[in-house]
Amino acid sequence: GAERTKNVLILMSDTGGGHRASAEAIRDAFRIEFGDEYRVFVKDLFKEHAGWPLTNMERSYKFMVKHVQLWKVAFHTTSPRWVHCLYLSSLAAFYAKKVEAGLRKYKPDIIISVHPLMQHIPLWVLKWQGLQNRVVFVTVITDLNTCHPTWFHTGVNRCYCPSEEVSKRALLDGLDPSQIRVFGLPIRPSFCRAVLVKEYLRKELKMDPELPAVLLMGGGEGMGPVKKTAMALGESLFDKEHNKPIGQLVVICGRNQTLSSTLQAQPWKIPVKIRGFETQMEKWMGACDCIITKAGPGTIAEALIRGLPIILNDFIPGQEVGNVPYVVDNGAGVFSKSSKQTASLVARWFGPESEELKGMSRNALKLAQPDAVFDIVKDIHELVQLHGPLSRISYSPTSSFYQPM
Ligand code: UDP
Repeated sequence: GAERTKNVLILMSDTGGGHRASAEAIRDAFRIEFGDEYRVFVKDLFKEHAGWPLTNMERSYKFMVKHVQLWKVAFHTTSPRWVHCLYLSSLAAFYAKKVEAGLRKYKPDIIISVHPLMQHIPLWVLKWQGLQNRVVFVTVITDLNTCHPTWFHTGVNRCYCPSEEVSKRALLDGLDPSQIRVFGLPIRPSFCRAVLVKEYLRKELKMDPELPAVLLMGGGEGMGPVKKTAMALGESLFDKEHNKPIGQLVVICGRNQTLSSTLQAQPWKIPVKIRGFETQMEKWMGACDCIITKAGPGTIAEALIRGLPIILNDFIPGQEVGNVPYVVDNGAGVFSKSSKQTASLVARWFGPESEELKGMSRNALKLAQPDAVFDIVKDIHELVQLHGPLSRISYSPTSSFYQPM
């Protein structure tokens, strides 16, 4: 007979654009591969169902990355296992009821965590409820290299690592090789399956058809030295001798409205597009020839798929540090903290050093893993088959954890 639809609950938190983007990528890939077989919910479970401090996770993250030193301290002091275990277990006890109410609402057959702090608590609740064998629990890691140890939990059915570096860390942290798969970072299907022609994109986006283009951005929040770099590019991409531009600039400011209005108000000598939060990043990337960005994993993986050489100009201390050697050592880009140097490098790429740009573009394409998200959902599907028929979870209303929502 026809199998019933299975519920998939994806746990994420809006700390930066990356986790949401990965969650939505997985949801879309389930729909494309399996249609009605799975019903997928993407939930910021802690935001909806828990009180302070988890509802504040997003706000405190934004605060902390703005105050980089503080974030550095937080990242490193929570690293030793005993510290985060103690911290998380007291949180887990406090939130267990509410997390359970979330599970009751979505009745998941499969739980996918795309967040470093969403392994421990849900797994504890499942265990307390005696459900750990009835629900498939997988983690999809969204950091390319130096990820936080809270990502790893030996109680998961699978841990999907975006790179070999991350899988090595998973092994060191006690996961069994059978739990680990390395497919790459999940990127939205609309992105990785898009067939794009630069010429048409430029027309659609009202860009100059001829001039080489550089895309400048800083994640979903428009972070890093975007303004300084934009100003420097405004100079370096203008040929004073012949009084004409040698390139064009696209700045995507994400949700940083201050940045976008400051840049709009500048006088520009080269063709410039300044945009806020864009929903069709694949088009802007497809229309450009290289990218300057902070070391966000999402942006890096997307740029690789589009074959864009990458200049990394910043990173969030802790989880983004390792993304730098991932790009640089594989010849897909360079790291440059100085806006002036970045700007003159782009000018050289658009002039005498165009061969270097082409070489890096080829390396980027070699590193790209456009099928990762499909490999992940197919593997989860196989896991579910192996797991046998999952019975619809029946949460008894008399359960000691029951709390009406
Ligand atoms: N992004 C977007 N529109 C924007 C800016 C960013 O869709 O205007 C997406 C971008 O394509 C990427 C994600 O937001 O998928 C940013 O993730 P990343 O890991 O690079 O950095 P984060 O913002 O999470 O720090």
